Amino acid sequence: MAIASNEVAFPILTPEEMDFIRAHGERVTYNDGDVVFKAGEAAIDFFAVESGELEIINPTADDASVTVHKAGEFAGDIDMLTRRPVIVTAVARGPRTVLLRVPNEHFRRVLHSIPHLGERLVTAFAQRRQLLQQSGVLGLKIIGPSQCAQTNLLREFLFKNFVPYTWYDPLADNGARALKGVNKTPKDSPVVICSDGSVHCNPPLRKLSHCVGLYRECPNGNYDLAIVGGGPAGMAAAVYASSEAVNTIVLDRLGPGGQASGSSMIENFIGFPSGLSGAELGTRGALQMYKFGALFITPVVVKRLVPGEEYHTLLTDGDEHVRAKVVLIATGVKWRKLPAKNAEKFEMAGIYYAATTVESRLCTGGIAIVVGGGNSAGQAAMFLSESCPQVHLIIRSDNFAKSMSDYLASRIQENPRIKVHLNSEIEAVLGDRRLSGVELMDKSTGQTTQIDCCGVFVFIGAEPFTSWLPDEIARDEQGYLLTGADAKASGKWPLTAREPWPLETSIPRVLAAGDVRMGSTKRVGFAVGDGSLAVTCVHRLRT
Ligand SMILES: Cc1cc2nc3c(=O)[nH]c(=O)nc-3n(C[C@H](O)[C@H](O)[C@H](O)COP(=O)(O)OP(=O)(O)OC[C@H]3O[C@@H](n4cnc5c(N)ncnc54)[C@H](O)[C@@H]3O)c2cc1C
Repeated sequence: MAIASNEVAFPILTPEEMDFIRAHGERVTYNDGDVVFKAGEAAIDFFAVESGELEIINPTADDASVTVHKAGEFAGDIDMLTRRPVIVTAVARGPRTVLLRVPNEHFRRVLHSIPHLGERLVTAFAQRRQLLQQSGVLGLKIIGPSQCAQTNLLREFLFKNFVPYTWYDPLADNGARALKGVNKTPKDSPVVICSDGSVHCNPPLRKLSHCVGLYRECPNGNYDLAIVGGGPAGMAAAVYASSEAVNTIVLDRLGPGGQASGSSMIENFIGFPSGLSGAELGTRGALQMYKFGALFITPVVVKRLVPGEEYHTLLTDGDEHVRAKVVLIATGVKWRKLPAKNAEKFEMAGIYYAATTVESRLCTGGIAIVVGGGNSAGQAAMFLSESCPQVHLIIRSDNFAKSMSDYLASRIQENPRIKVHLNSEIEAVLGDRRLSGVELMDKSTGQTTQIDCCGVFVFIGAEPFTSWLPDEIARDEQGYLLTGADAKASGKWPLTAREPWPLETSIPRVLAAGDVRMGSTKRVGFAVGDGSLAVTCVHRLRT
C-alpha cells in the first residue's frame, strides 16, 4: 500500500469479530517460549490472541522482535493467502497464552463470511508485508551489481511475488562483507543467500522459486479456463472466474501485476482519486485472486498452444501440459528496445523498461535519462525526479503535448529538475563496465552532445507477445491478435455454425484480452474491462 500504517497493519478485533473466529476455530493454550509457528512452515493456520502475548521474531536478523500481538490481535501476513512458507517465527510469551486457531483450509470461509472482517484482515496482511519489506533487514540477500541484468531479473521476480529481500552491491562495504562471509567473490554474482543459509550463484528463476518456497508444480490437469499472463487483464479474469467457481489456472513468466507493476503512479484508474502505484495494484489484484482460490503458477513461460476439439493444450518451458476448454491470452506487450549503439550491452544493466522503486534505487542521487513522449515516459520522469537531482526527458518529436496527457505535460514543464530535449534521439550509450552516459543528437541542428548519467529509462512503444502462437490465430501486421468481427473478417475463422464472441480469436475458444488484443486501448482500466468481459464468454463457451 502507498503508506503502510501501523493502525491498519495491527488492528484490534472487536469482541463480536473474536466470537466469530472462535466459532470457526479452537482454543489452544501455550506456555512461555512455545513456538506457535516457525519461519519456513507453509500453509500456516490463522491465530488470534484471546489472552497473553504472541511475539513475532525475525530469524534473519538475530531473532529481533518484529512485534508483540496482545489480546484481540492476530498473527499472519500475505502468506496466509498464498500458503507459502512464512518468513517470521511466532513464540508465546508470558505464563499462559490462549490463542484461537483456525485451520488454513477453513480460513477462506472466515474471509468470505463477514466481508468487513475479511477486508480488515486482508488489508492488514498486505500492510504488514510492506512494513516488513521497508524494514530492509528481512528475508534473503541478493548480492550483485546494480547494473547486472541477471541481478535485476532476480530482484524483479522477488518484488513481483512479495518475497522480501535485501540487495547489496558487491562494490559497497556491506556487499563485499556479505560475499566474503559465504566465500564468494564478485565474479560469482549475483549470489543469493536464502533465509536457511543456503547459497546459490546466479540461480535460474525456477531454482530461486524453490529456495523461497514459491515453487508450485504446474499441475498437468484439465481446466475450464487457462489464462496466459497475470497482468491486469489476466488477474481481472482470474478474480471473476474463480469467484464464479470456474476452474481456473493462471500462468505467468514472472509473477502477478504485468507491466502495470512497472508504473510508479497510476492516476487514471477509477476508484483511486489520489492514484496508486503499479506495485500496489498488483498486490491488491493478486490478494483478490488468492482470496477466491485462483491457481497462479509462476515462473512459467508458455511456449506453444495446440488447439484441440474439446480441450486446447498449453506447453510450457518446463515441459508441462495444461489442458483447458477455454484459453485466455493476456500476454500484453514488451517495450521496444532502445535503437542506439551499444544499447544491447547495457540491457537491464543501466537501461531499464520500467521505473519503480526497484529501478529508481539504482539511480538515486544521480542523473537519469528518460526516453519517450507518452504518459509512461512522463510518469517515469516525474517519479525519478523525486530521487534524482536532474532528469533529462528525450523526445523524438517537436511537441510532447501531442502524445502526453495535459496534466502530466504541465507538471513536467513546471518541474525544475526535469529538462526536456525535443527533436532529440540517443545515438549511442557510453560506458565500459558500467553505463556512464549517452550521446544525444539534436535532429534539428545535427549537433551531438554527451550527457553523463547512471540510468536510461526507455518508454518508446511496444510489440505484443504473440510469436509463440500458431499460424491459425489471426494477427495484424504488428502481431496484435484479431478478435470478434475482425477475427471473422480475417478469413481464418473455421466455424459456420456461429460467429466468434467479441473477445474470441480466429481459433474457437481461444480468447484475447488487454494490450495484446488489436484495437484495445493500452491502459489498465481497459485491460481490466477486457479480462472481466472474457469471463462472460467463458460461461458461454465451456459448456
Ligand atoms: C511504466 C508504465 C506505466 C504505465 N502507466 C499507466 C497508467 O498510469 N495508467 C494506465 O491506465 N496504464 C498505464 N500503463 C499501461 C498498463 O500497464 C497496461 O495497459 C496494462 O498493464 C496491460 O495489461 P495486460 O494484462 O493486458 O498486459 P501486461 O500488464 O503486459 O501483462 C502481461 C503478462 O503476461 C506475461 N507473459 C507474457 N508472455 C508470456 C508467456 N509466453 N508465458 C507466460 N506469461 C507471459 C507477462 O509476464 C505479464 O505479466 C503503464 C505501463 C507501463 C509499462
